[in-house]
Amino acid sequence: MSLVLRVDGDRWRSHLKDVRARHPALVPVVKGNGYGFGLGRLARRSGWLGVDTLAVGTYEEIPAVEQRYDGSLLVLTPWRPWNPAPDNPRVIHTVGRVEDLTALAEHGSSSGRRPRVVLERMTSMRRHGFSAPGLREAAALVLERGGVHVEGVAVHLPLARGSHLSQVERLMTDVVAAGLAAGHGSDRRTIWVSHLTDPELDTLAQRYPDFTFRPRVGTDLWLGDRGALSVRATVLDAHPVERGDVYGYRGRSAPRPGTILVVSGGTAHGIGLEAPTGEATMRARAASIARGGLDAAGLVRSPYTVDGKQRLFAEPPHMQASMLFLPRGTAVPEVGDEVDVRVRLTATLFDRIEIS
Ligand SMILES: *Cc1c(COP(=O)(O)O)cnc(C)c1O
Repeated sequence: MSLVLRVDGDRWRSHLKDVRARHPALVPVVKGNGYGFGLGRLARRSGWLGVDTLAVGTYEEIPAVEQRYDGSLLVLTPWRPWNPAPDNPRVIHTVGRVEDLTALAEHGSSSGRRPRVVLERMTSMRRHGFSAPGLREAAALVLERGGVHVEGVAVHLPLARGSHLSQVERLMTDVVAAGLAAGHGSDRRTIWVSHLTDPELDTLAQRYPDFTFRPRVGTDLWLGDRGALSVRATVLDAHPVERGDVYGYRGRSAPRPGTILVVSGGTAHGIGLEAPTGEATMRARAASIARGGLDAAGLVRSPYTVDGKQRLFAEPPHMQASMLFLPRGTAVPEVGDEVDVRVRLTATLFDRIEIS
């Protein structure tokens, strides 16, 4: 019953090395389901890449990576008072509120172990971070009372639609105005960024030669060469049906003659939880219904490709298997054959990962 992520190892590793070579200050992001690969594997891979820091999404993810990688661990979710005491010297905390910074500084002053922090400046994302005045207040607090070791400012930008440069430049003005970096070492002149293109990073490096820009990259690193990755399911069974034959948990009847194909992969893997792609517009669907298409029978597109086409689910996916409907005339694969599956790797749990 397996859903397999198959990786062309040479091609994948050479892509990783290429991204690494283009970004000496790269910070790999290792979070969630590990972009399909798993957190542990990507932590080891980050060590192999020779980076000094990796980023995890949450504090809960630290145990999955800390034994497999020995550099610094940047936590992307901002620290809050309910998170663990900030004593792990390998952890860099993201801070986006004055009260949290105050709490960390107090902890540092009383324990004598200054927590490592990056101050997050809010972007047009409006997810987390200081406003411009908030960043000035935070900088003043750090300069007056210490208690934390500031390792730069973070900006998390939305996925690219047009250039981010003008926004980053406005934010850089706030960083400079906050006075945090003036007269201090390179740590405080580090800007942790995400979702900038290579030309944008080059431009920023030229315009702000005193600062180091550190790109935090997940998708474009691990999944950047999609051609090196394929997702394969196995055909588990095939049953010819006539129009009207009953099948499935819900006792549906076949809309046409064809084959019910049972393939590995179901809700437990994350199959079927994504929006259908392709002909999803109302108009396209209406046209298909007018033609008497199978979606008129209430069948929904699946991510499985059989005989060159993305097929419809015969019914909603089961926990570990899915039933597809193949209309008569389709070349029906044999039990044991593999079929291609198009899934979002960040939302899929694989039974096996095979890296050649
Ligand atoms: C997830 C995340 C990233 C990496 O995003 P990708 O699109 O996977 O490269 C970078 N920065 C922050 C703050 C994130 O949460």
